[in-house]
Amino acid sequence: MSDEIESERPRYKRTNFIKPIPESGCCNLSCPFCYVGILYTKNITSSETEKSKLEHDDPSWEVEWIESNFSAVLNCKNCSNEVFCLGDGRVSEVQFEDEDGYSRDYVTEYKPKYFHPPIPQFLIAEWIPSEIKVKINDAFALAYCDFASCGNKLRVVVEEVMNSIDPDGKGVRLHKRIEALKEENEKIKEFLMAIKWLGNEASHEGELQEYEVAFAFKTLKLILDKVFIDPSIERETQELKLHAQHINRDAVKAR
Ligand SMILES: [Zn+2]
Repeated sequence: MSDEIESERPRYKRTNFIKPIPESGCCNLSCPFCYVGILYTKNITSSETEKSKLEHDDPSWEVEWIESNFSAVLNCKNCSNEVFCLGDGRVSEVQFEDEDGYSRDYVTEYKPKYFHPPIPQFLIAEWIPSEIKVKINDAFALAYCDFASCGNKLRVVVEEVMNSIDPDGKGVRLHKRIEALKEENEKIKEFLMAIKWLGNEASHEGELQEYEVAFAFKTLKLILDKVFIDPSIERETQELKLHAQHINRDAVKAR
């Protein structure tokens, strides 16, 4: 492992999993049907929780205490496919500029947790084996509601990828199988290992950060492209490589 690695693990930039969806308009989420269209909020229905209603009697009650559940229908502007979404609503104060200078108001932020069908984090190529596709879709379904479970599922995808690369190694510990990869797969070794470690971290600590899940999806896409499309693909390799080196180094230190 290189000594040039900075001590702090870089935060792979991505905030989609923790971003609220708008009450109307563009959600910046890919359509799970056509993959090229973007989803827009068609309608949202929300309802304040009973616990939240009871809290109104508290003398120190503030508007920002309001909690609600919501359901929303999103639709794709390209293919008209509809996606159903459930999540939590939270009230927060916002400042905006107007003719009097600055004013304040309260808005409800709709934080999505579940989408049906799941939002794709990348396009799964047709020729990816179906057993891998199924597991990737399982990980997509967990991306907004449970980062740790999503990390576990991505580790399962790595096992499936290893079954494709090395069908005779089934039953051998994943760590050993990755370590034993031959020269032609040398370039994906540290990426596979990093996702494996994140899956382990998710199991042992029961939590994973949003940016680690974002990194794992991006890295998985790179692995799939290298294994099933073209081993020479180098897209975003340096940024992902640096993050993977940090994860692998921290995991080895913690052993
Ligand atoms: Zn679409």
